[in-house]
Amino acid sequence: MKANLHRTCWLEISLDNIKGNFRKIQEMVGEKITVMPAVKANAYGHGVIMACKALQEAGAKVIAVGNIDEAIKLREAGITIQIVVFASNLVEEEVAKLYVEYKLTPTVMYPFQAENISKAASEEVGIFVKIETGRGRLGINAEECADAIREMVSYRNIRVDGIYSHMAYAGWDESKKSYPMWQYDRFKKALDQLESYGIHIPFAQLVNTPGSIAYPDIRLTGACPGRGIWGYSPLERREGHPDLQPALLAWKSRLLIVKDVVGGKLGPNFEAIRLDSPKKIGILAGGVSDGIGRGQVKGGTVLIRGKRVPICSPMSLEHMTVDLTGCPEAQPGDEVVIMGRQGDDEITQEELMERWGSTIPYFWTAIPEHLERIYYENDAEVAVARGYEVEML
Ligand SMILES: *Cc1c(COP(=O)(O)O)cnc(C)c1O
Repeated sequence: MKANLHRTCWLEISLDNIKGNFRKIQEMVGEKITVMPAVKANAYGHGVIMACKALQEAGAKVIAVGNIDEAIKLREAGITIQIVVFASNLVEEEVAKLYVEYKLTPTVMYPFQAENISKAASEEVGIFVKIETGRGRLGINAEECADAIREMVSYRNIRVDGIYSHMAYAGWDESKKSYPMWQYDRFKKALDQLESYGIHIPFAQLVNTPGSIAYPDIRLTGACPGRGIWGYSPLERREGHPDLQPALLAWKSRLLIVKDVVGGKLGPNFEAIRLDSPKKIGILAGGVSDGIGRGQVKGGTVLIRGKRVPICSPMSLEHMTVDLTGCPEAQPGDEVVIMGRQGDDEITQEELMERWGSTIPYFWTAIPEHLERIYYENDAEVAVARGYEVEML
């Protein structure tokens, strides 16, 4: 391994798969539709800086982040494409100055926010407007948005580049299409009203990953895939589905120590017990504060020297204890696979999600940014991220 890791618990991520997934989704929706990858929550846990570098290289023209701090870090890291910030602040006057300074695109939901941007701007600034069409969440209600947008564009230097909405889960098959169609109709009426006011917005987006796959006719002019970019889709078993590949290849650690103990929290219910004869255990880096679900203790295993080794003591904040009775050859420094392949065996993300009781959001969205992430391209390590700092290798 080229990367000089500071901790011994890390993620392995494929930049080729991130790029490939973007290109496959772009191909599926066609050139006329702008694909705006959702990179919120530190790129769904994949590390926002390197993920966005890959997406920019793959041809993305616009990306959508979750908060302005990540957006600023992206600008500082050399991302030059349009960066939309999802609704996460009130675009108050001081924050409005940051959007202008770093050439970021705010999500606006009230005319006063456009006014704040206008006050901070000395040249034209593009904004995105979020509208609510049926998710029951953020955005201006579709029926009111045309009048609100008319007021927004009345402020000096304000241009509306995009309008977007979020889908409610709708089952994703034709028989359940009436709900997304209702969302689409509300959106379409708002766009028609805007056109009647002489306001044309180039980017209009309703569909997310499953929406853009299941309902080609409601794509409007934009698509905003999140999960699909990272290689996951609830519809992946469908015929004609793009062949998406997981960006997260593996989650690994190393044994910090291997030893025999004669007592500990090693009882059947993890109560403290004294043992009649010594027991071989190993401790590895990686615990609850690293994003590993507490459910890992319920029958959870890791791979060491190609063998499944069980967790045998309660999860610690930064460590896990494993029973090495069946793997006496283990040595300190041995690689441990928490998720991924080793030898002939594999621990899949589905297995972990079931054990940890996570559905959507997938567990990787909860992996904190302090875990080092190693990036691979063409089978070679190219970068390691520590927090938002990236070291190119
Ligand atoms: C996160 C997000 C998406 C992406 O959703 P996926 O289901 O992960 O594809 C799309 N649109 C908006 C507004 C979002 O916030």
